[in-house]
Amino acid sequence: MTAQDLQDNPLLDFSGLPRFDALSPADVRPAISELLCRCRALVERLTSDEVAATWRDFAEPLSDGFEQLSRAWGIVGHVHSVNDVPEWRDAYHEMLPEVSRFYAEVGQNLKLFAKYRAIAGSAEYARLSAAQRRVVEHEVRDFRLAGAELPETDKPRFQAISEELAQLSAKFSENLLDATNAFAELVTDESELAGLPADARQAAREAAEQGGQSGWRFTLHMPSYLPVMQYADSRRLRAAMYHAYVTRAAEFGPAELDNTSLIRRILELRCEAAQLLGYTSFAEVSLVPKMAESVPQVLAFLRDLAARARPFAEQDVADLRIFARHELGLETIEAWDVAYVSEKLLQARYAFSEQEVKQYFTENKVLAGLFSVIEELFGVCLKPDHAPVWHEDVRFFRIETPDGELVGQFYLDLYARDTKRGGAWMDEAISRRRVRLDLVDGGEGIQKPVAYLNCNFSRPVGEKDGQPRPATFTHDEVSTLFHETGHGLHHLLTQVDELGVAGIHGVEWDAVELPSQFMENYCWEWGVVQGMTGHIDTGEQLPRELFDKMLAARNFQSGMQMLRQIEFSLFDLLLHSEFDPAGERSVLELLDDVRHEVAVLVPPEWQRFPNSFSHIFAGGYGAGYYSYKWAEVLSADCYGAFDEVGNPFDRNTGQRFLREILSVGGSRPAIDNFRAFRGREPQVDALLRHSGMVAA
Ligand SMILES: [Zn+2]
Repeated sequence: MTAQDLQDNPLLDFSGLPRFDALSPADVRPAISELLCRCRALVERLTSDEVAATWRDFAEPLSDGFEQLSRAWGIVGHVHSVNDVPEWRDAYHEMLPEVSRFYAEVGQNLKLFAKYRAIAGSAEYARLSAAQRRVVEHEVRDFRLAGAELPETDKPRFQAISEELAQLSAKFSENLLDATNAFAELVTDESELAGLPADARQAAREAAEQGGQSGWRFTLHMPSYLPVMQYADSRRLRAAMYHAYVTRAAEFGPAELDNTSLIRRILELRCEAAQLLGYTSFAEVSLVPKMAESVPQVLAFLRDLAARARPFAEQDVADLRIFARHELGLETIEAWDVAYVSEKLLQARYAFSEQEVKQYFTENKVLAGLFSVIEELFGVCLKPDHAPVWHEDVRFFRIETPDGELVGQFYLDLYARDTKRGGAWMDEAISRRRVRLDLVDGGEGIQKPVAYLNCNFSRPVGEKDGQPRPATFTHDEVSTLFHETGHGLHHLLTQVDELGVAGIHGVEWDAVELPSQFMENYCWEWGVVQGMTGHIDTGEQLPRELFDKMLAARNFQSGMQMLRQIEFSLFDLLLHSEFDPAGERSVLELLDDVRHEVAVLVPPEWQRFPNSFSHIFAGGYGAGYYSYKWAEVLSADCYGAFDEVGNPFDRNTGQRFLREILSVGGSRPAIDNFRAFRGREPQVDALLRHSGMVAA
């Protein structure tokens, strides 16, 4: 590798936008290896005794150096997600272990910790900007939670716990996946398919054929399982599938796939690690970097919400029972009937066709509607822009101030492709930060942020009058687009110049969904929907009558759904706080207590929900499942400020939301952002109101 080769490597060009037109998988290894080398050398140099523990001499050059690695690796990760062809997959996976190893090393580097701690204890600290202080504070906190301050005698044990926990979590998900795959229900009698939609039957038929069987094969994967539970008239089929689903990875199946003992062990180890760090429970540790202050605070929050949702949930269940008895001849509702009866009731009450709605949400109308919401609310201008892209479908836009000053730019990759990861997500391409333009003069500039917005919507099909017809989106997809745009705005409209807390960086985990969920509200504003619909054939706006049905259906069973989420959240939090993993009481007994406290529908005694609760045992949600509701309360309450002034586009309120929440990113605690915007503590009323839970 010559210096010239490296100079021409597009991944090492940090002068502007990613060079997707010049980039090839062969660039990955040389560029990332070079950056890892540079970062290691930088860490070595900055942690030496000669380097003063100051912002200017230590924290800033470290952040600048690391930014290059994360930016280049971010481009590689992005291409791997949106163009997952074998050459890119190989290039990504070849370097992934090396990059992960580097970050693990940094997280355990006690010399780095010592420097940050020295800054925090220095006379300079008080003179740093609030954002800089917060960066230092976060660094010290993260090192501490990773065990950096433990006595030397405890460190090996702490390390061993971390490693065992990582293995147990991986095993938990593997068991669950294997147990999910181990079951299939083969239907040979066609009459048992009554009620199932044609596409679900077709998929089951193909699955059977692939296995060399005749008949219809149903599995526990969502696309196969859900239609059965929602639509199959056969109660026997629903019961069989339900039983298999809720007893996965439990003692009734193969012993080697049983997650029961793993759950105990995970809880014991989390508890031990928390105690080594000086906390009484894992839940306390989990809350340290979050917005919520304490376990009792979150418990009170969940219980208050449960009490207020309960009457509505009870009404939901009563409606379900009456409908089942009178319309379906079911005297009792079993657990495997709930989704089926609910679907029938939904259709009876609010029948409308998703397909019909979809004809009104044409791509250009939707984008124009979304952009005008952003322009009206935040006083910025969105314009088409040009940049090298990774696929011809991708569009590129810029955000400017009214005087034409660049604020940020974003890529929009809307359609599904075989080579694109599923789902929808926002990712950062470039982050806002202060850069020194000329070290001699001390000149400074601001690097402007760039975001990727990725969705998996269906691409345009067919032609009309010789022109390609536009893509059309379901209302759910439109809502997803608004959601991801909310994350994008958090990243793009930030005014913070320190990378570590700019945009979504350093934002508490339980507050990060605030801007995204906030933006979703606009898809339910009639004024917005009118402007962003135009029927694909006639150009007509969505009829008000159809919109009213959508609105009514939106809040269908919202009480029941809310209590279900609270049940999971409460179980998770109690399991990681009050529950003693070494004690007499079992995990199932705790779950039983929680259900008796909050649930309106108690599932059968043989159900083994914890054994498949991978969010908390294998994902990052341990003692954090409450975050879903927490962020929903915050976003609904923020949106409530617009309700109060009677205008969803009120410019003053929009500017305040921009100033106090979006633009400050992680530079200030989320609760302070909220208070500054709302002038008070968060309240649950707006969420209940938006979910239709208001006393008649
Ligand atoms: Zn989100």
